[in-house]
Amino acid sequence: MSCPRIEVDLDKIRRNAQTVVRRVGRRGIGITGVTKAVCGHPAIAQAMLEGGALGLADARISNVQRLRQAGITCPVTLIRTPMLSQVDEVVQLCEASYNTEIVVIAALASAAIRTDKVHGIILMVEMGDRREGILPENVAEVAQQVMAMQGVALNGIGANFACLNGVAPTASQMASLCDLANEIEGMCGPFLKTVSGGNSANLPWALGSQDTGRINDLRLGEAILLGVEPVSGDRIGGMHTDAFTLVAEVIETGEKPAPFSIAVTDPALTKFRIVPNNGVSTRLVLAMGHQDTDVLGLSMAEGCILIGATSDHLLIGANRSTLRLGSEVRFQMNYKALMHAMAAPDIEVKLLTDLPAKQPRQIQGKSEHLTLV
Ligand SMILES: *Cc1c(COP(=O)(O)O)cnc(C)c1O
Repeated sequence: MSCPRIEVDLDKIRRNAQTVVRRVGRRGIGITGVTKAVCGHPAIAQAMLEGGALGLADARISNVQRLRQAGITCPVTLIRTPMLSQVDEVVQLCEASYNTEIVVIAALASAAIRTDKVHGIILMVEMGDRREGILPENVAEVAQQVMAMQGVALNGIGANFACLNGVAPTASQMASLCDLANEIEGMCGPFLKTVSGGNSANLPWALGSQDTGRINDLRLGEAILLGVEPVSGDRIGGMHTDAFTLVAEVIETGEKPAPFSIAVTDPALTKFRIVPNNGVSTRLVLAMGHQDTDVLGLSMAEGCILIGATSDHLLIGANRSTLRLGSEVRFQMNYKALMHAMAAPDIEVKLLTDLPAKQPRQIQGKSEHLTLV
């Protein structure tokens, strides 16, 4: 098998989706599966849908194109405000998009009219992350402008948290978003079918004790793919954290002299060799580097430590004598490492579709609530 490669256990992704869909479903919230970290990989998207995601979302139109070319026909939403230069593709490939600029919405409307379509608009509200979004006090006015346009339909509003500033949403922020939805309906008339609360960082809130109000959608990538809650990095109870494994090959083994010499002034000490005491017996060079992934986002196998990396080489120390030239070393990835590796041209994505179903009940267990462990 080729190296480096990412092994993807679709069954774990499907089961992660199922677990989270079931848990938030009880609170009246549906899930949109976010595929941007896997560059719109169709089989992974399909696993999210099989797990119960109601639709898909991606930040890039090229990824949506990939989904459509593979024959995926479910609703797809663009979650990054569209580029003015891509409105035709957005209208052609996506049922709806998140928007913050009236000029872009007007261009989407014209593109939709040209092709005899109606494009859905979800207004992204800025609620504290300070990335994209319309300020809450301006949303109703923009909503009215959207209502007055042909070619677009106001589907709803949404917010996003913890992407730029890493701060999880609070119950009061979520309540404000619900109030805003009511206010817009009061002013403009239409029922807002989507009130999208946010991303994986919203899960502790969604599964907490507070009322979830009118929020009826969450857009989840990381939680489904990696089984973790992004703000804390903690594993979500009952979820698989090892659906993805990055595998790299050892291309050199053996010792190297220390990179610098230490001047020893006390003659009594000269008979001792000073070596780093990190407990590793072998130094391995792997054929993978910064060009392939975010090396700081790799979790080392038991007995291995990260020594360093360059664009094409990864150096690890290992105390396992079984690792030899040509051996494969396996890593788990965090979100950033995954995103980077999935987009790397030299990494093969290998789907483990033919694994026997391994007691799906066992890990999900009876736990009915999301617990952060
Ligand atoms: C990336 C993104 C998401 C998904 O985030 P996860 O942390 O992977 O769940 C949702 N909404 C928007 C707007 C995003 O950019």
